[in-house]
Amino acid sequence: METPPVLEVRGARRRYGEREALAGVDLEAHPGEIVVLLGPNGAGKTTLVRAICGQSRLDGGSVRVLGQDPARDRGVRHAIGLVPQDIALYETLPVATNLEVFGRLAGLSGATLRTAVADALTGFSLADRARDPVRDLSGGMQRRVNIAVGALHRPRLLLLDEPTVGIDPVARQSVHQVLRGLAQRGMALLLTTHDLAEAEQLADRVVVMAEGRVRASGAVPDLINRLFGGRQEINLLLARPPDESTRTVLEGAGLIPTVQPEFWVGAVTDDPEPLAELRARLKGAAVPVAELRVVAPGLHGVFLRVTGRVPVTREAA
Ligand code: ATP
Repeated sequence: METPPVLEVRGARRRYGEREALAGVDLEAHPGEIVVLLGPNGAGKTTLVRAICGQSRLDGGSVRVLGQDPARDRGVRHAIGLVPQDIALYETLPVATNLEVFGRLAGLSGATLRTAVADALTGFSLADRARDPVRDLSGGMQRRVNIAVGALHRPRLLLLDEPTVGIDPVARQSVHQVLRGLAQRGMALLLTTHDLAEAEQLADRVVVMAEGRVRASGAVPDLINRLFGGRQEINLLLARPPDESTRTVLEGAGLIPTVQPEFWVGAVTDDPEPLAELRARLKGAAVPVAELRVVAPGLHGVFLRVTGRVPVTREAA
């Protein structure tokens, strides 16, 4: 991409006691780009986001937003918007008043504030609820107000921590629309999610972290192509956790374990032959197969390979 990045993280390190929460992370976000940060619990996503907005220090490496360090240069913090995971609004106050209050806190006033509030009400499809107290809105609408608050002062970089957690699919789509609209106007968005379908739909680029490191980064189709190279994905579910000899057979067949002991993954060509061969091999070795499926490779398969983990589901998150 030709435009200079809004956000540039280089070699970010952060240690909590013995634990390395960030072990040398590089990350960029460009104007108009939606970057989705993925990773299992404890991967370091929150630590990274907190360092980017200057809320926590790094032990090494650097964060630059528009070329400035947000931990030292308070001025550049105005270029950053933060949408926290928990809805942080005044429940009893009307939507428009919430926007005004938070707009003032972000340094807006007078005509600039009035225009920003009016634009947010229209842009986030909240105009007909402007006078309703926030507590009367649905969860999805409250999420939109929460995002509107973070984006009100038109930051160049918007950080969003799991912006659609706990809302239904229709409301999620409307939040996605809002986020795409912000990116189209040139804002760089960095968001964390555990929802891989959301990442596939929204991301211009995904960054997969595990154990404080970036394990993979790129556009979803490129990552799939890089890891699968036109092959199909195998999902194998065992009837029970494998014993040592089953483990050896599975590894010998090129399958990869995940953190769920019964669940293994692999890749095969489109040709039906290798799958038949694999079935025969597993049967011959009396591997307790509960289910063997071939699926089109997706971000799920990428995530499993680069983190060795089954992604957290919405229910388990
Ligand atoms: P999740 O998906 O669960 O939110 P995450 O990817 O955001 O996880 P972090 O919250 O950044 O991960 O945590 C990274 C590691 O740093 C974890 O091992 C965590 O226990 C540790 N950690 C984070 N904050 C602190 C803290 N204040 N004190 C000690 N350890 C911490």
